[in-house]
Amino acid sequence: MSSPATFIPPERTLMGPGPSDVSPRVLNAMARPTLGHLDPLFIDLMDEIKSLLQYAFKTDNALTMPVSAPGSAGMEACFVNLVEPGDKVVVCINGVFGQRMVENVTRCGGQAITVEDAWGQQTSAQKVEDTLKAHPDTKILAFVHAETSTGVRNDAKQLCALARQYNCLSIVDAVTSLGGIEVDVDGWGVDAIYSGSQKCLSCVPGLSPVSFSPAAVEVIQNRKKPVQSWFLDMNLIVGYWGKGGKRAYHHTAPVNSLYALHESLLILHEEGLQNAWQRHQQGHEKLSAGLESLGIEFAVDPAYRLPQLNMVKIPDGVDDAKARQQLLNSFNLEIGAGLGELASKVWRIGLMGHACKDRNIDHCVASLAKVIR
Ligand SMILES: *Cc1c(COP(=O)(O)O)cnc(C)c1O
Repeated sequence: MSSPATFIPPERTLMGPGPSDVSPRVLNAMARPTLGHLDPLFIDLMDEIKSLLQYAFKTDNALTMPVSAPGSAGMEACFVNLVEPGDKVVVCINGVFGQRMVENVTRCGGQAITVEDAWGQQTSAQKVEDTLKAHPDTKILAFVHAETSTGVRNDAKQLCALARQYNCLSIVDAVTSLGGIEVDVDGWGVDAIYSGSQKCLSCVPGLSPVSFSPAAVEVIQNRKKPVQSWFLDMNLIVGYWGKGGKRAYHHTAPVNSLYALHESLLILHEEGLQNAWQRHQQGHEKLSAGLESLGIEFAVDPAYRLPQLNMVKIPDGVDDAKARQQLLNSFNLEIGAGLGELASKVWRIGLMGHACKDRNIDHCVASLAKVIR
């Protein structure tokens, strides 16, 4: 090690698949003095975070809180609490994150039945319905609302309605959707949902908001076997995050990260959900026009494109790695690479939360114009 020194990162513009740019308000919140995690003032803050999360998710669910770990832990929290050995779970796969859900089901001892669609395509509701008909003993339908690996929006409202119709619970990945496009937990009848702090909420990475419906809570409270993960067992976590009564120590909350989450949710609340969704849509349209002027094409049908994650084809003759390296080194701009079978074929340009603004879009289009020339 050469002599270690304080790390001062450069100011990048983060327009990849996350993390997104964190607003100075959120960074400042994070730098405030640490309180004890059972300090009455901190408990008040936890209650306010819960209320702000209920607003963001559009739910009255009492069990709504941030898991003290990244989005992947929120995913795991939903599966380990709801899936018991032998349970049948229908999982929709049209990208990386659906595949990860299967991995979770299997590790819980559940039986995953997959509904697969090509990467870049939407999950077919017809296939889901056929599968639920063929497996009437299905306990859970799980799917990704905003597939960050492809920029595809799955029809959460329709899929949740199918889950209800066929008497199963729904698990929804809203890591990239929350704050960027409509999420309506109570309106759609979602049973378990998880998100992430670092995508459209533009908070620092490392927290995963989750919410469970009363029906899901009943299933969790009446399990045959205890949840295999001690840390993620909601029956224990409610003792710390539950409303009212005495809070008991479960783990030390990431106090300063929660200041940051509170501030980012406050920003969303001040802007208003509708306005935030509209800002993402307008940003997407502005970016689309700019990319079109450069001859860069989208790789996803406009009917189900995500405004906050734009998957575009790399123009012929452009070297993927070199171009992204040049964007980073010469323009301090990060965009995302393609994953899996789409590697070196597409770019993923994020317009998430605080990063979704005119100045960034202009910077991105102007930088791309220089790099692809
Ligand atoms: C980013 C992401 C995750 C994982 O979140 P981490 O915070 O990286 O663990 C899960 N699902 C989707 C759709 C994501 O975009």
